[in-house]
Amino acid sequence: MRLCLLAVLGAMALCAQSDKTVITGKLLDGGVLETNAQQLIQLNGDRQTDAVLHDKRLAGDIFELHGHFEHNTFHVDPRHTGALFVKKDGKLLAVTYWCDVCSIRTFAPGLCMCCQQETKVDLRDPASIE
Ligand SMILES: [Zn+2]
Repeated sequence: MRLCLLAVLGAMALCAQSDKTVITGKLLDGGVLETNAQQLIQLNGDRQTDAVLHDKRLAGDIFELHGHFEHNTFHVDPRHTGALFVKKDGKLLAVTYWCDVCSIRTFAPGLCMCCQQETKVDLRDPASIE
């Protein structure tokens, strides 16, 4: 009985793994990723993820994205799961936005909720943010 249960759990773990994909490439304007093999991948995600992927200031950066393929589109996992990174100098950095005036951090581009000024891109070591 115990062996049987372990076998089921093992099969579930394998299944979960194959569903999760990590892709790396250069972000192009318009939410498209170009892989090292020059393959173009259309990206899709939740509202905050989409906003980051369409941020022109990040176009040209190397991204690592976690998610899964569905009909040739890559669906990035929800923003709060930490599925989106910029690769710089061999390090993975979280994409955040920062308002100098108010010292407020956000996770999507746009105006500061406090002073209404444009926030700036702030790439951070994921361990240094909550
Ligand atoms: Zn502000």
